[in-house]
Amino acid sequence: MKGEDSFIQYSVVIPLLNEEDNLRPLHSRLTAVMANLRKPYEIVFVDDGSTDGSYSILKEFHQASSSTRCVRLMRNFGQQSATRAGFATTKGQVILTMDADLQNPPEEIPKLIAKLDEGYEVVFGIFAERKHSLFRRLGSDFTKHVLAKLLPVPVSNLSCFRALKREVVEQLALLPEKTRFLDGLMCWMGFRVGTVVVGHADRYAGKTKYGLFGLLSLWFDMLVSFTNLPLKIGTASGVVVGLVGLVLGLFYLIRYLMYGFAVPGFATIVILITVFAGIQLMVLGIIGEYLGRINSQVKNKPEYVVRDML
Ligand code: UDP
Ligand code: MG
Repeated sequence: MKGEDSFIQYSVVIPLLNEEDNLRPLHSRLTAVMANLRKPYEIVFVDDGSTDGSYSILKEFHQASSSTRCVRLMRNFGQQSATRAGFATTKGQVILTMDADLQNPPEEIPKLIAKLDEGYEVVFGIFAERKHSLFRRLGSDFTKHVLAKLLPVPVSNLSCFRALKREVVEQLALLPEKTRFLDGLMCWMGFRVGTVVVGHADRYAGKTKYGLFGLLSLWFDMLVSFTNLPLKIGTASGVVVGLVGLVLGLFYLIRYLMYGFAVPGFATIVILITVFAGIQLMVLGIIGEYLGRINSQVKNKPEYVVRDML
């Protein structure tokens, strides 16, 4: 790693949260792969607020070799913010990102790099066969078929196992937008995006950090940060419901003119009130989601806070 002084070709950024049982096997497999590439490299672990023994293991790695570094965040800020924190400290010409649970086999890294060398600026390692739970795979189908149609980004081809040219990371740092949807930003900027099929393994140890709620909120984030479609759906449903109300009103008016007062209709009223109230609340909620994002963007809080760096 010495010799050319501080020149670094590859930076591998690995965000992690409580992965103590995965770090040693990951580190030994990864360093073997990186050494084989015969270019100066660095491994940047980002400890996203782990409460297990992860950090002391990372310290050991750093003591053994200064090419492994660690950024420790003050608390858990989420995988995407942790990735950004890692990006901010990288020096490599090519920046790779991967998960810490060995679901992304380090041995596949040369494939990502080879694809990048074909002239792409962003390369995603996509999975032929996913080892996630049924539920996660259903989620991927949802992304593929629904989100992909709605967003100006090839969402079905995204993954956290990526290789990026340095300029992508630099441009990303210049964007003031705060979103968890980093891949969306990368694609939106217009970089040449390639994909390469890589293996996907079972999680080596521990459990996934994304439950149902976490995933739903991630998808919703993707949608809301890249399109105003939910707002338009709100408007459209308002128009539709308004028309239905108008037709109903005419119906009752004509009935009144023809037959006089009609007392029954309790069910109709209850149904209408609940349906309308439901739609109104939903639309208010959607507006609130956008407003909330404006609020956090305006406050301009940093996306992460660093506790210390090794
Ligand atoms: N992760 C993180 N911060 C979080 C959640 C997850 O840094 O708040 C890391 C996690 O340790 C792993 C990667 O992000 O290295 C992917 O997480 P996980 O394997 O739980 O997700 P899945 O593979 O199930 O999508
Ligand atoms: Mg995983």
